[in-house]
Amino acid sequence: GPDVRRFLRRNWLLLSTVLSVVLGIGLGLLVRQYGSLSQLHKYYFGFPGEILMRMLKMVILPLVISSMITGVAALDSEVSGRIGLRAVVYYFSTTIIAVILGIVLVMAIKPGVSHEADNLDRTGSTPDVTTVDAMLDLLRNMFAENLVQACFQQFKTKREEIEPSKPAANTEVPPSVTVMTTLNITKDYKIVGLYSDGVNVLGLIVFCLVFGLVIGQMGERGRILIEFFDALNEATMKIVHIIMCYMPIGILFLIAAKIIEVEDWDIFRKLGLYMVTVLSGLAIHSIIFLPLIYFVFVRKNPFTFFLGMAQALLTALMISSSSATLPVTFRCAEENNMIDKRITRFVLPVGATINMDGTALYEAVAAIFIAQLNNYVLDVGQIITISITATAASIGAAGVPNAGMVTMVIVLTALGLPASDVTLIIAVDWLLDRFRTMVNVLGDAFGAGIVQKLSKKELERMDLTSDVDVVNPF
Ligand code: ASP
Repeated sequence: GPDVRRFLRRNWLLLSTVLSVVLGIGLGLLVRQYGSLSQLHKYYFGFPGEILMRMLKMVILPLVISSMITGVAALDSEVSGRIGLRAVVYYFSTTIIAVILGIVLVMAIKPGVSHEADNLDRTGSTPDVTTVDAMLDLLRNMFAENLVQACFQQFKTKREEIEPSKPAANTEVPPSVTVMTTLNITKDYKIVGLYSDGVNVLGLIVFCLVFGLVIGQMGERGRILIEFFDALNEATMKIVHIIMCYMPIGILFLIAAKIIEVEDWDIFRKLGLYMVTVLSGLAIHSIIFLPLIYFVFVRKNPFTFFLGMAQALLTALMISSSSATLPVTFRCAEENNMIDKRITRFVLPVGATINMDGTALYEAVAAIFIAQLNNYVLDVGQIITISITATAASIGAAGVPNAGMVTMVIVLTALGLPASDVTLIIAVDWLLDRFRTMVNVLGDAFGAGIVQKLSKKELERMDLTSDVDVVNPF
């Protein structure tokens, strides 16, 4: 009847995305079974998916810049300070809850205890970075030395061990620092600054925050800039809509190519219990904890909200990147869940960069799993260390695929475990990454809903005053 037709019309994009996931999995399994694709053909197969990723990444830059600047400029500094504080309190407390949930589950399920660690391949070498390096990188990235560079590169520290035999008497010794390794052997390292691919979203956010605040205070002259970025934001969101129409096709091939590509299904058996631990933690956090927190503050049905975000959640699941999902997150939050633009523009980009509940939970589980494999007994102090470093590692992880696994090094080295042991869990990370990214995106969205509710008074007051105060300069 007309109801069905209306439902289809309103949700065609979501429905076709769901369909494309199913078809993609089917196609992948079929080709795996009956096709014999060469490496090159597999590569071509994923091409439509690659194009989708490129399109989504394309809009990150104008979207983050325009939404942050207009978001901050639209509020007066006192209001934005208060909204910012609420957002940060939300980010932090939900991340801690996720970490604690992860710790409790992994200590109860003990996925690493029954295992012989030696059944798993251990390949790897000395750590690239230590906890201190990684924390310093986080701060470095906040202060981009070059804004243009920040649009495509992030700073990464790398440590290279200086082989004792290498620096001969007369050669120049590179600047080095001495650190204690986990074995309590003093080694020399050379610190190498590297720029790695990926937008330095954190650096851009910090700049746009200050820039938005400043032009918001500038009065008439600042208004020109605000108008400009507002229009940029609107145009970008229109482009996002066009990209979303291509999404089902891109996703179909993305997932099919992944299924064709995976070689080691056997590892799933070996790491099964570990994966179950991570996945059940993610499920509990996103189906019970986050909705409960939302309900307590907002008093609305969290699952309606959940459904409104479905397209974004599915996207995150398919592409494992909160940053690249951001355009879709914006659309779902603003159009389906009716969250005020003044809130989303502020809470979503920052959230996509620093609020990662799924990643934090995963970091805690993975670190303790690796400790269990090593028959390493953790005391209370170390558990607290895990909570702190897992939180830091989730803040430090960029919203790109597998970032959380890289920042695992922070947690492992803080515990005195070999950082090279992340290689034990690499093989399944492509799968876990998808699910934790989904939880990361969900956490940001609920955050926007909660902050909006808590800021209702301020927003209403601004609506009233702005009617009186705003003089159109044009
Ligand atoms: N891929 C995740 C994200 O984009 C980060 C991670 O690897 O945990 O949110």
